[in-house]
Amino acid sequence: MRNRVRSADDLARFVQPTPDEVAAIERLARRFHFVITPYYAALMDPDDPECPIRRQVVPRTAELEDPTGLPDPLDEVAHSPVKNVIRVYPDRIAFCVNNECALYCRFCLRKRMVGDEEWTMKRRELGEALEWIRRSPEIRDVLLTGGDPLVFADDRLDWLLSELRSIPHVEIIRLGTRLPVTLPFRVTEALCRMLERHHPIWVNTHFNHPRELTPEATEACDRLSRAGIPMGNQSVLLRGINDDPGTMKALCEGLVRMRVRPYYCYQAQRLEGTAHFRVAIERGVEIFRSLRGRTSGFAIPQYVLDTPHGKVPLSHPYLRGREGDDVIVETYEGRVWRERNPPERSA
Ligand code: SF4
Repeated sequence: MRNRVRSADDLARFVQPTPDEVAAIERLARRFHFVITPYYAALMDPDDPECPIRRQVVPRTAELEDPTGLPDPLDEVAHSPVKNVIRVYPDRIAFCVNNECALYCRFCLRKRMVGDEEWTMKRRELGEALEWIRRSPEIRDVLLTGGDPLVFADDRLDWLLSELRSIPHVEIIRLGTRLPVTLPFRVTEALCRMLERHHPIWVNTHFNHPRELTPEATEACDRLSRAGIPMGNQSVLLRGINDDPGTMKALCEGLVRMRVRPYYCYQAQRLEGTAHFRVAIERGVEIFRSLRGRTSGFAIPQYVLDTPHGKVPLSHPYLRGREGDDVIVETYEGRVWRERNPPERSA
């Protein structure tokens, strides 16, 4: 963390920055932080400015050309009953315990807050959020996110998990972390031993491209799995990075080999400075349709659009309709199949 890339000069140790990248680092770094771990920077192709690793973390002036982008497209601020707690559903919350990450992804949904001091959670504020959870018996599922909760030191995270575990109605604790991807050495045996004391713990991580599936990342995920933690992956569909069937298939199959279940792939939000990353929803639907029947079912994530009112699954309409007593469905090869539909029973 101390040795992170923070400037165009630092970046030049790994790749030759283009004039556009240098200009963007100077003009944008104060609006949305520019920091990369040396580990992740070393995954970049030094000769290719279109490298899918590089494009995720190195600014471009295209970030300045997004007239329709919004700072908070999911209206998370309006869904916060207490600082850094986001509640969209009745029974679960996202608890942004930390405003720091190992690096800052250019498409980050929370770019309004990550890396910004104003959103740091002081111990007192963490306590107030915990008190709110304690007073809200309908909350059974808490997602620790941020920022990245694994940026916390082990003892601070241990304290937070112990506090949550002392609340009887909190059944599940999930951690949303990109550190297995961006700083896999953070996933130590000591961290895993601590986490397994607080089960049931689930971890969702965030791989976007098969080149991120390195031996180091594989070991980090393996350590978490061996601690009994079910691992899921939430990717974002990003133009020029993973928006083609071959790349998405390689990513999903590689994740399954690592025992990480591809869980969601998000449609990129209408977030400020990200127009150059966004892909038409129809294209996303076709990418995931092309995987159906051509790889293991559990290797296919659900493609979703997040909205201020919850997630909406986006899928090809396999259910075509009804004819008489039959429903008409479409198979993965495009064949039509009639299935006799059992009559609805009256209560
Ligand atoms: S790791 Fe996650 S929270 Fe942090 S900058 Fe990237 S997308 Fe945002």
